[in-house]
Amino acid sequence: MARIDTPNRIRGTQDILGEDERRFARVVDGFDRVRRLYCFDRVEIPVFEATAVFARSLGETTDVVSKEMYTFEDRGGDSVTLRPEFTAGIARAFITNGWQQHAPMKLATHGPVFRYERPQKGRYRQFHQIDAEIIGAAEPAADVELLTLADQLLDELGIADGVTLQLNTLGDAETREAWRAALVEHFNAHRDELSEDSLDRLERNPLRILDSKDPRDRPIADSAPDIDQFLTPEASDFFAAVTGGLDAAGVAWTRNSRLVRGLDYYRHTAFEFVTDRLGAQGTVLAGGRYDGLIESLGGNPTAGVGWAAGIERLAMLLDEPAAKSVDAVVVPLGDAAATRAQGILAELRRAGLAADMAFKGNMKKRMAKADALGARYAVILGDDEIAKGEAGVKNLATGEQQPVAFDALAKALNAA
Ligand code: ATP
Ligand code: MG
Repeated sequence: MARIDTPNRIRGTQDILGEDERRFARVVDGFDRVRRLYCFDRVEIPVFEATAVFARSLGETTDVVSKEMYTFEDRGGDSVTLRPEFTAGIARAFITNGWQQHAPMKLATHGPVFRYERPQKGRYRQFHQIDAEIIGAAEPAADVELLTLADQLLDELGIADGVTLQLNTLGDAETREAWRAALVEHFNAHRDELSEDSLDRLERNPLRILDSKDPRDRPIADSAPDIDQFLTPEASDFFAAVTGGLDAAGVAWTRNSRLVRGLDYYRHTAFEFVTDRLGAQGTVLAGGRYDGLIESLGGNPTAGVGWAAGIERLAMLLDEPAAKSVDAVVVPLGDAAATRAQGILAELRRAGLAADMAFKGNMKKRMAKADALGARYAVILGDDEIAKGEAGVKNLATGEQQPVAFDALAKALNAA
């Protein structure tokens, strides 16, 4: 018989189970909890969009659009792209659904995003992001609220230590133009020393040279003119209001005047939460203000600010995955008990208890399964117990066992 080859998992994708899954879940649950505290509504948007949504909002010169998108023609001949991030799709939804009437909107979402990158630790082709956005608020208070949310999330996940908020301003349009011109002049004067990639960036997206990791570029990037001398009074006031708000909210930050975001629509605030615990993949959460985005997608001028974080990178930083929480494992012995156990199990679950059954192998194997599930109690029943109408309830932490009447089980376990 011919051997059938199983197709492999696609490079850069993941199957997530067990401890990794529980780490992942802890990040998502933490985010869902905190975004509620900040009154952010959950939004669901499509996994794929017309290619123009990303090409126009991210800009053709960005790495994401020029090298990383999963773009294909569907059967109708339309060019579609798997979302490489959330912001552009949310902006598109804001325009096409007429959400202007609800502005300002505080929105949160999470799910898979796709980028054709070289897979390595902390870098995948299908990865997952949590994402928070405020659309229709031009005030610096919105930036502060989003950063405070991020800070609280990292704190609640227990990973705030060793993660630093780096903050910068990219100014308003006028500031950015003037700074960009000065940067181009500076980099042009050092053309001979720049890496090939940065020579290319010089034509297409000169700001990006500032965060080049190539050692040949570093001295030139480090000696480039600072944005501060180009800030208009308005841009300067805005940045002062953001930093003042962060100080008032007790959020620690450091200035990184070399921090730029790759996307063309960023204005004013740009930030990253970085750590040195993840090697080259040190940025865990990043974002900023994108006041030009909605207009560049054909909507009315609308301010926006937001961030996204890689769930996998946050999950790697966690000390502990989410604990398994199983209240009880029912352990039946004998055929009659097996049937009765089905009823007891259903009752426990209807009463809101997390419960499972251990029905395979001898008693020792069954108790081992109860332990492996991390259950708090084993509910043991055999012929004797059925005759008496009560089960043996064993506390798996202490080893103590007591009889409990069948109809009092759910109450007893819920109270325990
Ligand atoms: P990097 O510099 O690591 O490529 P980026 O600037 O492309 O990151 P963003 O577009 O800002 O990243 O995405 C927000 C977050 O998503 C990142 O801070 C990171 O945590 C995560 N992320 C980005 N790309 C990947 C990937 N390929 N695999 C896993 N997580 C990723
Ligand atoms: Mg990237």
